[in-house]
Amino acid sequence: MEEIFFFVLFYTLYIGIISTLIKIIMKISHIEHLGIAVKSIEEALPYYENVLGLKCYNIETVEDQKVKTAFLKVGETKIELLEPTCPESTIAKFIENKGAGVHHVAFAIEDGVANALSAAEAAGIRLIDKAPRKGAEGLHIAFLHPKSTLGVLTELCEKKD
Ligand code: ZN
Repeated sequence: MEEIFFFVLFYTLYIGIISTLIKIIMKISHIEHLGIAVKSIEEALPYYENVLGLKCYNIETVEDQKVKTAFLKVGETKIELLEPTCPESTIAKFIENKGAGVHHVAFAIEDGVANALSAAEAAGIRLIDKAPRKGAEGLHIAFLHPKSTLGVLTELCEKKD
């Protein structure tokens, strides 16, 4: 009898733990894009288009982030070139401190950025954005702080149509 009791107890705990884990793990489908800080999109594009053979299909300014963005496709993933539009831009500060180069990694979230943010918060990850906001290409986005993500500024993205 005692054995059955412990079996049921452990089984219940096991299911409880598994279902909790399933709830708090993010559902990432692929790398949506890599954000790369450049001083000038105009000066950077010849390398991406003429040497790497990629094609820029969209250039867009995101006013509230003080950046001009250029997008190039690499299979399902994109390269997002980021050029500061003013010296106060976080991209301008990034280039000043670290030089041009990889700025962030953006993951496509299958079940919504809001859910992913809850999962991150539950795991004790520091959030830059407490709620999803609008990014380039009509995506809903949110950033996780690099101090909590092993030095990689991490963006979570969701397509909203
Ligand atoms: Zn991005």
